[in-house]
Amino acid sequence: MVLKELSKLSVPQSIYYAKELDSNDPLDRFKTEFYIPEHSIYMDGNSLGLLSKRAESALLQSMEDWKTHGINGWTDAKQPWFYMAEELGKMTAPLIGAKEEETITTGSITTNLHQMLSTFYKPNGTKTKILADSLTFPSDIYAIKAQLDLHGLQPKEHLIQVTSSDGRTINEDDIINEMTNEVSLVLLPSVLYRSGQLLDIKKITKAAHEKNIIIGFDLAHSIGVVPHELHNWGVDFAVWCTYKYLNSGPGGVGGLFVHEKHLGLKPGLAGWFGSKKDVQFDMSHDLEHAQSAGAFQIGTPHIFSMSTLNGSLEIFSEAGIHQIREKSLKLTRYLMELTSLKLHHYGFTIANPDEDLRRGGHVCLEHPEAARICKALKNNGVIPDFRSPNVIRLAPIALYTSFEDVWNVVQTLEEIMDSKEYEQFTNHRNIIA
Ligand SMILES: *Cc1c(COP(=O)(O)O)cnc(C)c1O
Repeated sequence: MVLKELSKLSVPQSIYYAKELDSNDPLDRFKTEFYIPEHSIYMDGNSLGLLSKRAESALLQSMEDWKTHGINGWTDAKQPWFYMAEELGKMTAPLIGAKEEETITTGSITTNLHQMLSTFYKPNGTKTKILADSLTFPSDIYAIKAQLDLHGLQPKEHLIQVTSSDGRTINEDDIINEMTNEVSLVLLPSVLYRSGQLLDIKKITKAAHEKNIIIGFDLAHSIGVVPHELHNWGVDFAVWCTYKYLNSGPGGVGGLFVHEKHLGLKPGLAGWFGSKKDVQFDMSHDLEHAQSAGAFQIGTPHIFSMSTLNGSLEIFSEAGIHQIREKSLKLTRYLMELTSLKLHHYGFTIANPDEDLRRGGHVCLEHPEAARICKALKNNGVIPDFRSPNVIRLAPIALYTSFEDVWNVVQTLEEIMDSKEYEQFTNHRNIIA
């Protein structure tokens, strides 16, 4: 998006307006539930969400259960470990518009992608190709290429990556045009991780099914910030992580969705935790896999890396995903408008789509000096996210970012640009960016 003309914008340039927005915010009360790093404004909740007090107590509860019950914690813990993945799946279902049995908490995005691809990708005759996009997160592409290799198929020939005309966004019609009779499976992100573009999942899914193509989505950047209707849209499968918007903590266990119509399918990667629960401990060498999404689990669930979700998902259930989306859109709109008004002459470009329907939860600013501007922001207590070579991602989080925070972030950016403070830093990324 080209920065808007000043005259088109009406947002008042005053901290009092930000405070007024906060005083009318129904989600305002959740902010005090989170540990916000001291003296900082956290704008990186789309990479690693913050710890809530409820997530902390839930983890401590699991530790306590281990202390008290030893192995009996599998059944006697407050949140019995044996059923935790299924229970958390049920709590996740409303966030993605899924039935309870279609959802399970397990694995990471990448391992779940391997599970989904090995289950759903069945190259047959000339229908062998996997369709993805050229802007997606690298791990997703690594998984696709590895799965093609396992089938003895060359990624060069069998992986099609839809290109972008502007280097930031992907046109849905370009995706649909690539859905030829040779395509067996489509894998796309719901929200593109760099630009924050939200794809039209419903429309793309319908087009895929008209061509008899299996379609799955990576919800890394939409779960917990954008509502979904995966069941009604007929999406075949989906995967996500929980350490971004769902605030489960570093390495928190992810999840997957398999549509009801596919439940009962044999998992591509089998393991004993995919078993029907009542027969798992019969220890038979013939797996009787569950008839729910639970079938796609492999080994013992990582209890300490998922129990935080018991607390965290409770917050989502109270706040409601629609209310979260509404505030998130207001926050990102406010951030974009203030940026346009106050920063337009410093060479920033807003790279995410402007329309609410096409925007995820973060704002993507581009600037040739982005790396050093991010360092200067950190030096001033604002925690952004840098994506090489020129992207500053700013994610105001509905549960713990206020409108006043957004105002202050833009003020800080303006000061850094005015004083040229960023010139004190090198324009290279750090090891983690
Ligand atoms: C964050 C992210 C990942 C990370 O995958 P993990 O297996 O959870 O490490 C993968 N894909 C996308 C689109 C992401 O945004």
